[in-house]
Amino acid sequence: MPNFPSRLTPWLRLVSLALFALTSACATRSHIPVAASHSAAESYLLLVSIDGFRADYLDRGVTPRLSALAAGGVRADALRPSFPSLTFPNHYTLVTGLRPDHHGIVHNRIQGNDGKISFVYNDARTTREAHWWGGEPIWVAAERHGLRSATMFWPGSDTAIGGVRPSYWKPFDRNLGADARVDTVLDWLDLPLAQRPRFITLYFEQVDRAGHDYGPDSAEVNAVLAQIDATLGRLLDGLEARGLRRSLNLIVLSDHGQTPAGAEKLVLVDTVVDLERVQAVNLGVVAGFAPEPGQRRYAESALLRPHPHMQCWRRGQMPAHFHYGTHARIPPIVCLAQQGWIMTTTSALAARTSPPSLGEHGYDNTLPDMGALFVANGPAFRPGARVPVFDNVDVYPLLAHLLQVKPARNDGDARTLRLLLRDTD
Ligand code: AMP
Ligand code: ZN
Ligand code: ZN
Repeated sequence: MPNFPSRLTPWLRLVSLALFALTSACATRSHIPVAASHSAAESYLLLVSIDGFRADYLDRGVTPRLSALAAGGVRADALRPSFPSLTFPNHYTLVTGLRPDHHGIVHNRIQGNDGKISFVYNDARTTREAHWWGGEPIWVAAERHGLRSATMFWPGSDTAIGGVRPSYWKPFDRNLGADARVDTVLDWLDLPLAQRPRFITLYFEQVDRAGHDYGPDSAEVNAVLAQIDATLGRLLDGLEARGLRRSLNLIVLSDHGQTPAGAEKLVLVDTVVDLERVQAVNLGVVAGFAPEPGQRRYAESALLRPHPHMQCWRRGQMPAHFHYGTHARIPPIVCLAQQGWIMTTTSALAARTSPPSLGEHGYDNTLPDMGALFVANGPAFRPGARVPVFDNVDVYPLLAHLLQVKPARNDGDARTLRLLLRDTD
């Protein structure tokens, strides 16, 4: 029986129980083949994330290698991110099957019990504290089942979660080139069988960065897409040369999309609420506010009233489709910017040294522009299948199934597997 945290409502417990039963049942279904003609012992699973790759980028005609993978395998119309559509919450959802509200990485920057921002996504001293990371990432399950795992970057992978790290992992280094990352993965696949990892992640941030800097519709994004596609080609050629294409299942996905933003679409929150009386925990697309002692009513009267370019809710009263608002790390008031808008302050704007971002994400996860990539190719996947949008919590049951490890309690729907896998009944 799964051990449910006490913060889950009875209703959520029921849903979780049903999901647990469903995913556990699925894990034991022996008639879904993992790798057609290969036994599980010989099969590999490679999970590639191209950060900020919006679903429709695939139709731009600039990623021929990825398009060929999609044509020969499965492509989803889009992978729906979880809310908030930010990098750390979603990467961790992909490998745990838990919504951010349940795994605890509720934002890229999180306030600790001391009222300070104590988890900052790009500060390893904070992200390596294991207590932040709830649930069990798939590499921990793999290691526990005696399968070696390797991470060529992935949020959470440099932290000993539950005391376990991947057998091979690298501290995040944005200066390590994309091709060098691929070569590291190929080196791991050249290890003697007993040391060779069976589950591998590979991460690229370049498309996301170009999306922020130049906007999703820019020539620069298309140029970076072509570069990353060539890097994927290097990977595919390397796999081919090693004779691995028939025993390796490859999933290429992203964490969220990107929408045009810009200097003309800024909400100055200090003109809405007095920041001496209400602490701004986070700004940007998803902002959090914590009233100073005795200021709750003031904070609510200032922030909960209608605003043309943002909407705020009390934690716990957010729209149900966000599945967000029960975790204690979520600030008492959460504000979400209108698509394309960004929340900042007059002083932050004056102090800014870089130009405003021309692309953003973090918005309502059901917006088409937040839609992420999902392509899968390999012996386990249906060839030439196009499937409708599905939630990114469903990726974890798929990973667990492919690795033949028992999935931990999760928010995913194992029925999605049937759309993706070959030879299921
Ligand atoms: P976001 O601000 O949500 O767009 O985050 C994207 C950025 O997260 C990337 O440009 C990377 O610099 C950073 N990032 C991605 N993975 C990691 C990681 N494992 N550790 C630290 N920073 C990361
Ligand atoms: Zn991202
Ligand atoms: Zn980003």
